[in-house]
Amino acid sequence: MQNTFQHHLPDENGYFGEYGGAFIPPELQGVMDEITSEYKKIIQEKSFLEELAALYKHYVGRPSPIFHAKNLSRKYGSEIYLKREDLNHTGAHKINHCLGEALLAKKMGKKKIIAETGAGQHGVALATAAALLGLECDIYMGEVDIAKEHPNVVRMHILGAKVIPATHGRQTLKEAVDAAFEGYLKDPVNQLYAIGSVVGPHPFPMMVRDFQSVVGNEAKVQFREMTGGLPANVVACVGGGSNAMGIFTAFLEDDDVSLYGVEPAGRSLEEDGEHAASITKGKPGVMHGFNSYMLMDDNGEPQEVYSVASGLDYPAVGPQHSYLKDIGRVNYASISDKESIDAFFELSRLEGIIPAIESAHALAYSFKLAAEKPSSSILVNLSGRGDKDIDFVVAEYGKDYGIS
Ligand SMILES: *Cc1c(COP(=O)(O)O)cnc(C)c1O
Repeated sequence: MQNTFQHHLPDENGYFGEYGGAFIPPELQGVMDEITSEYKKIIQEKSFLEELAALYKHYVGRPSPIFHAKNLSRKYGSEIYLKREDLNHTGAHKINHCLGEALLAKKMGKKKIIAETGAGQHGVALATAAALLGLECDIYMGEVDIAKEHPNVVRMHILGAKVIPATHGRQTLKEAVDAAFEGYLKDPVNQLYAIGSVVGPHPFPMMVRDFQSVVGNEAKVQFREMTGGLPANVVACVGGGSNAMGIFTAFLEDDDVSLYGVEPAGRSLEEDGEHAASITKGKPGVMHGFNSYMLMDDNGEPQEVYSVASGLDYPAVGPQHSYLKDIGRVNYASISDKESIDAFFELSRLEGIIPAIESAHALAYSFKLAAEKPSSSILVNLSGRGDKDIDFVVAEYGKDYGIS
């Protein structure tokens, strides 16, 4: 099979322009170097690529289809197409990189994969991959999130993973990251820390992008088959940025294709703590082991962030996005809670597809784009399905949409 994991960035130190790198304790540098060199070796091996391709096909259900949303297209005046990552096993794009990371861990002889999780989506996807590949799995999760995200905690237990509570500070995602790093430092030889997006120290932004790039590679072929050409616009939501890099990567060299990353504007872009628009409102800095645009307080600590979509609720963004912003290749915009919930119901009621609230951010932006560029074509990465969100949406917003 063709090896599509060859890109000119990052450089050998993990930099995309000035962003990226590895800002980690010296004890971890050796392990990171080993992961990088093993990864670079393994992705040249036919057996690894074939095994991963077979899992994508027979386990995840790839290729995910592209659906031409004709009812939305008619209403908004531009042709809207959806890349259906919501149809993947476990309901989102995250399984793409979790399987890649778990397979890498197994090939490297690791016994256990570990990770942090916020709302639990990454934890469930990783626990799934661990169960399939016979690896142990520890998921670090803030105590507050454990109480809030009960169904995902139960899923991880059923899948055989251990959920380890982070009990310090605010007991949410940031503390889970701290606890996972601590757990990793205790035994970096037998464990692999499988980061949940295109963030963290080198080589993770590169590896997670490579594993997600299957999305754009498929989409490019599918879109040509459907329409005879390429989409004029590609839109994806940006939390850490993995589903966006997944679909953008195949189109980066196609200058006629405009790319849009959509950040969460939350309740208000004008107030700190009320959004998580790291590129739109942040500035370059270092956290969680890498250099990128991020939202920091006056002490250089990660700012409190907020979005109605818990998967977008992260105070930084993957380093390649910062680079793509600076060189002007990708446009970054933001969508509010309210706009995303409107889009959530719009897709549900016009096309019979309930999207994840994260994905509804991308969708909401496609409606605005359609108004700006009528009679164009827009491919939206529908990163996940909304089953996880239905109770919350109905409780918080149901009345506004005729559900009592
Ligand atoms: C986690 C998640 C996201 C955000 O993560 P990225 O790394 O930015 O892609 C988006 N959509 C869904 C459905 C998710 O579960």
